[in-house]
Amino acid sequence: MKKLLVTLAATTLLLFAGGAGAQNYPERPITMVVPFAAGGPTDTVTRLVADVMSKDLGQQIVVENVGGAGGTLGAGRVAKADPDGYTLLLHHIGMATSATLYRKLPYDTLAGFEYVGLVTEVPMTIVARKDFEPTDLKSLIDYVKANKDKVTLANAGIGAASHLCGMMFMSAIQTQLVTVPYKGTGPAMTDLLGGQVDFMCDQTTNTTKQIKGQTIKGYAVTTAKRVDALPDLPTAEEAGLPNFQVSVWHGIYAPKGTPPEITARLSKSLQLALADPNVVARFAELGTTPSPQADATPAALKAKLESEIARWKPVIDAAGQYAD
Ligand code: ASP
Repeated sequence: MKKLLVTLAATTLLLFAGGAGAQNYPERPITMVVPFAAGGPTDTVTRLVADVMSKDLGQQIVVENVGGAGGTLGAGRVAKADPDGYTLLLHHIGMATSATLYRKLPYDTLAGFEYVGLVTEVPMTIVARKDFEPTDLKSLIDYVKANKDKVTLANAGIGAASHLCGMMFMSAIQTQLVTVPYKGTGPAMTDLLGGQVDFMCDQTTNTTKQIKGQTIKGYAVTTAKRVDALPDLPTAEEAGLPNFQVSVWHGIYAPKGTPPEITARLSKSLQLALADPNVVARFAELGTTPSPQADATPAALKAKLESEIARWKPVIDAAGQYAD
């Protein structure tokens, strides 16, 4: 009996401590892990959103780039962090695809995290170095088929959105190409601009400015409709690659066990950031839009992740190429 009382008292104390912590949250800076290199599209989206969230939360949000292994290194790092709301992850569609691509992950994709909400869904573009010979998507396809041993396709590692889109491209044209992995498409873009790599798929959040400035070549956007920021860029369908659609949704996660009061507070802050006029305007310039408020919630992100794991599993299994 005495032992039971002591246990009950200890539990009450713990609950109280947890509740009090959540009530005063946040009391110190928060780290938001981006699982790709600085300067890339995920990094850009994160910094725009984190800036507004940090003002709302009254604490600094430090963006930390933990690139490598297609985003799984950064996700693994957050899965192992203390579930106290001070370490978060902003990841994209790769959270879903890596669940199948990696047969051994150091974390459980669905059960290893708490959810904050969806952030944005970004179109992808197929782009090349400025002086790459092909002038449109049809000639790109012919060219890479004829030169498959010398053409290089950049990506951000197995599990990255650029990898998924590149894999879809190679399977659509039934040609295997030489791929060059980077820790993110930030550094891949640097090499594309420098002419060290030939072409890649990447989010409009990294390619719009370069396509408009004609510092790279843009062949197509991978959405059903053209994007307002790049009205002259045809869709893949228009340019001769039917049914070639992929867009890159992003979400914010916390380690499993993070108190629901904290994820709810973060979700509220995310909704505020997504309605911020500067965020809306910058997203528009970068070819994207904020997720609707109802999607910037834990339940919506969880449902999206579950449905996307189910959606991509058969596609990846059919390609039969895994990370291990
Ligand atoms: N765009 C990258 C990808 O391929 C990631 C990044 O650098 O943000 O997933």
